[in-house]
Amino acid sequence: MTYIPIELRRQVIERAGNCCEYCLLSQDDYPFAFHVEHIIAEKHRGQTVGENLCLSCPTCNTYKGSDISSVDEQTEIVTPLFHPRKHQWNDHFYLEGVIIKPRSPEGRVTVFLLRLNDSERIPGRALLLGLGRYPC
Ligand SMILES: [Zn+2]
Repeated sequence: MTYIPIELRRQVIERAGNCCEYCLLSQDDYPFAFHVEHIIAEKHRGQTVGENLCLSCPTCNTYKGSDISSVDEQTEIVTPLFHPRKHQWNDHFYLEGVIIKPRSPEGRVTVFLLRLNDSERIPGRALLLGLGRYPC
């Protein structure tokens, strides 16, 4: 794991508004520190620069790992994951209550690979929605 300078980490967290850039959960509502993650993993030549870093909750980052794409179930084409620096969340996803629905092939593979709607993730989101704390 590459060292990410503290000032760069601070900038990534601030830019993200302290939110997971995939599932929109706030770090304030999560029991563990969020990860500053390489969108394009270092093993795929991703650099440790702001344009390749995002804030991710540990759950999203664990499922994403070093992956950068998956096979879209509709097109059966290898499709890049949602890229928080190059894509707008609302262009690729929308919320139906607390369910993250894809709008694009990139959204579909990201919902699938990051298991954004796994059953264990939904109750917490629903609770936070009820408290006006989701999405962050
Ligand atoms: Zn997340």
